[in-house]
Amino acid sequence: MSLRQLALLLPASTLLFSACATQSAPVMPVETETPMAALEWSIVVHGGAGVITRDAMSPETEAAYEAALAHALDTGSEILASGGAAIDAVEAVIMGLEDNPLFNAGRGAVLTETGEFSLDSSIMAGDTLNAGAVAGLSNIRHPISAARAAMENSPHVMLAGEGADQFAAEQGLEVVDPTYFFTERRWDSLIRVLERRGVEAPAHPLGAAQEDELSMLSFPDDRKFGTVGVVAMDQTGTIVAGTSTGGTTAKRWGRVGDSPVIGAGTYAANGVCGVSATGTGEYFIRLAIAYAICARIELLGETASEAADHVIHTQLTGLEGDGGVIVLGPDGTPTWSFNTEGMYRAYATSEGRREIEIYEYNEGAF
Ligand code: ASP
Repeated sequence: MSLRQLALLLPASTLLFSACATQSAPVMPVETETPMAALEWSIVVHGGAGVITRDAMSPETEAAYEAALAHALDTGSEILASGGAAIDAVEAVIMGLEDNPLFNAGRGAVLTETGEFSLDSSIMAGDTLNAGAVAGLSNIRHPISAARAAMENSPHVMLAGEGADQFAAEQGLEVVDPTYFFTERRWDSLIRVLERRGVEAPAHPLGAAQEDELSMLSFPDDRKFGTVGVVAMDQTGTIVAGTSTGGTTAKRWGRVGDSPVIGAGTYAANGVCGVSATGTGEYFIRLAIAYAICARIELLGETASEAADHVIHTQLTGLEGDGGVIVLGPDGTPTWSFNTEGMYRAYATSEGRREIEIYEYNEGAF
């Protein structure tokens, strides 16, 4: 559905809100207020909030991002439509995005100051409130699977560093040489940050570049974002949220962002909401953003879009933080909110609704 069609369905109060919102802040264009039949399933996906600026985005690169998001929706929708579990949809979609060098997760992740990879991920199941998280992985191809394994096969919620790598390997997850994650584009970003910082560059990991068409796409990519996240509701009404990231370029001292922190980067509770976040993680941790959105829905009775907008545009913007969230509301209705120029994002529902967007409002959608 186009945004113009959508506007026709919105109640007047929502239109007023949307009109004000477009004046003051880059806001979500999704339809949480739209009357819709009960959803059997739904899925919402993000690929990071720090998009390439519109001026610098080539048609070729834009098409590559849109194709990746479309593929993500297809993968998730197929699982959910055939009665599969939300946890399997979230894991499968994130695995695909982790393998895609366009995104800052798995292959294509950003590098630390010392030229290494330190990958973070988490997953939460809304039916049980079980959760799993890993931080600082260096050689596991699919961090989201390590997070799921931590949830299902360990007595702990969060594992970090060497122990997390070791656990994931013991679980039989695929171990790769860290150079698998390497892309020249992220290396260039690291060098630019280190030059600004006046820090000597680490040695280039020789022989690292197994470059293909996607990882060779070159564009000004100085922004640190590109994290991936998925929230899905399956036909049992279970909501699962997951997030995976390489973190922020040139991070130091074992820095861990919000993505593996339950309540900050990821949260899910059936009948309330599911959230995956992207942005400068320090702010998302301080504001416990994912949980704060769910708490507003549950305790204040706000809609998912009211709660997300409040937390992003009032609280996050108030601290001068940047980023965004994707959200499924209590009945699985998708929404999103962000205060950056754009956010790679997409959703699909059992009713056949489907949107893929990058900037605030895609002109084509009106
Ligand atoms: N939130 C991630 C982090 O701070 C970064 C991102 O979303 O791109 O590690």
